[in-house]
Amino acid sequence: MKKIALHWQIIMGMVFGVVFALVLNPFEWGADFISNWIKPFGSIFIKSLKLIAVPLILASLVKGISDLKDISSLSKMGFRTIITYLITTIIAVTIGLVVVNAFQPGKTISEETRNELIESYGGDAESKRQVAQQQQDSGPLQALEDLVPSNIFGAAADNANMLQVIFFAIFFGIGLILIPEEKGLPVKRFFDSLNEVILKMIDLIMLAAPIGVFALLAALVVEAPSSDLIIALLYYSICVVAGLALMIIFYVLAVWMITGKNPKVFLGGIFPAQLLAFSTSSSAATLPVTMERVEEELKVDAKVASFVLPIGATINMDGTSLYQAVAAVFIAQTFGMNLDLATQLGIIGTATLASIGSAAVPGAGIVMLVIVLGQAGIPEAGLALIFAVDRPLDMLRTTVNVTGDAAVSMTVDQAQKNTKN
Ligand code: ASP
Repeated sequence: MKKIALHWQIIMGMVFGVVFALVLNPFEWGADFISNWIKPFGSIFIKSLKLIAVPLILASLVKGISDLKDISSLSKMGFRTIITYLITTIIAVTIGLVVVNAFQPGKTISEETRNELIESYGGDAESKRQVAQQQQDSGPLQALEDLVPSNIFGAAADNANMLQVIFFAIFFGIGLILIPEEKGLPVKRFFDSLNEVILKMIDLIMLAAPIGVFALLAALVVEAPSSDLIIALLYYSICVVAGLALMIIFYVLAVWMITGKNPKVFLGGIFPAQLLAFSTSSSAATLPVTMERVEEELKVDAKVASFVLPIGATINMDGTSLYQAVAAVFIAQTFGMNLDLATQLGIIGTATLASIGSAAVPGAGIVMLVIVLGQAGIPEAGLALIFAVDRPLDMLRTTVNVTGDAAVSMTVDQAQKNTKN
């Protein structure tokens, strides 16, 4: 029998998961059955992907950097990566603002519905506000200070701080380039071989992907919240989805123009990672697959992919920043506020920073949205309005986040190749 391609297996897993949950949900025992007997397989799948994330970042970054000839190639690549990430994020926020201002989804909501929602979700909004407030209260150099771990095991424990792990790996890699080659060789060989082992482990985990996404989607369907806000939320969701779609078109065209890879090759290559991002809502959990696809299918140099992608999964969230811009303006519209140009330009800055600060896990974007709202003077209670539809939008924005990382890795790779020739 011909083997079915992985992405088809994943799609089938998703469809079966949704259908299975819809069939079982009407039974009294259906939701409990799915929560107790199906959902754990989804959690195991996500946990095994996260399990591999820290060793993968360590091994691939150290290997990638030690393969570079010298420090100046590293700093060139680092500069290109950060600048490209910033540019794509600013473009994403701008697209979000244009779409939400053009369609004005928030104008459709009635006063009555708004009051009802704020009453019922006020508490939840408050707890999210506190989390974001803590981040906002810290000093201007806090982010820089947080970058440096005092203990590498502490940073790696519980996937607590990916940026600190990245910092350690880059620092370690620099040390490795700077010592004489023959002295560094055993360490380099060790990381080369560790990298191979981890890539093989990812292959093995991916064999279980169809079952994992089946379980994740089934659990999501039975736990989905219901809401009567349908119309306004539908318009709002359409705005987010339209913006995200425009962003994907932007990546495809940019990759085509810069690298010459046509859309079919680019999207076809990254598709399994997109599906996984959609089912897990986590760029961090998707990272292993993104790396594998980008290197093997899109032929990005392993040195570039292993540097650009882990950083991107942590700081480059174009989908999230676009969503934050749309959500902030939508909430302002529902409260009858007209945001002037200066405030909207301010949103470009805060949404860019808030998306950089968002963890690559489900729901992080809505927590950091509080910062955008606070800065623009938009009532935070408005978060209540958008909770109900946040999960599906999270799935889509994560897909865009991952696609953006892949696109940037391709353009940085091209730039590296151009300068070499
Ligand atoms: N779930 C997103 C991610 O992991 C972050 C967000 O909530 O927007 O990329």
